[in-house]
Amino acid sequence: MADTPGFNARLVRDLEKGEILDGGARYLMIRADTLMGMFSRLPAVEAAAALDALKSSTIENGARSAQTYHASLPSGDRTRLLDVIAATAPQLGWGSWRFSEVTSETLVLEVLNSPFVAGYGEANAPVCHAIAGMLTASAGIVFGRPVVAVETQCAVEHGVEACRFEVSPEPSSDQP
Ligand SMILES: [Zn+2]
Repeated sequence: MADTPGFNARLVRDLEKGEILDGGARYLMIRADTLMGMFSRLPAVEAAAALDALKSSTIENGARSAQTYHASLPSGDRTRLLDVIAATAPQLGWGSWRFSEVTSETLVLEVLNSPFVAGYGEANAPVCHAIAGMLTASAGIVFGRPVVAVETQCAVEHGVEACRFEVSPEPSSDQP
């Protein structure tokens, strides 16, 4: 990644205007517990819907970031995008990411120290929908086809150390 400027190095903090920018993308610093406290305050059904909406929004907007990262890489080097994503996530404060079990159409991501877990506390269902969304967007570029990323275990659940995400092809994309 020596030839790929890191996220932190690209950030522009304009203290006059009060904004943080990575190129055209505006970022926002917000306490993890403030963000995740919104979900923990909602009734379970509404919280699930709101987390799903966060995932959808991250897929849509995160895809623009992933496309930008991808465009900075040598063409045809799709899997290197995973290295860039894994290097960028910690700079965003999104935990420590490790990809494994990468095949031609599936992969696994393990995340330690997710801020979404840290901000939430303890729960009985996964809460790292933003990571699942960013993974969906990124893996879609890596595999060149629509994929589904699902958090199959989350450290928000009692006794679980790492969050685990599994990427597979979007089932409907195979159907005529
Ligand atoms: Zn999680």
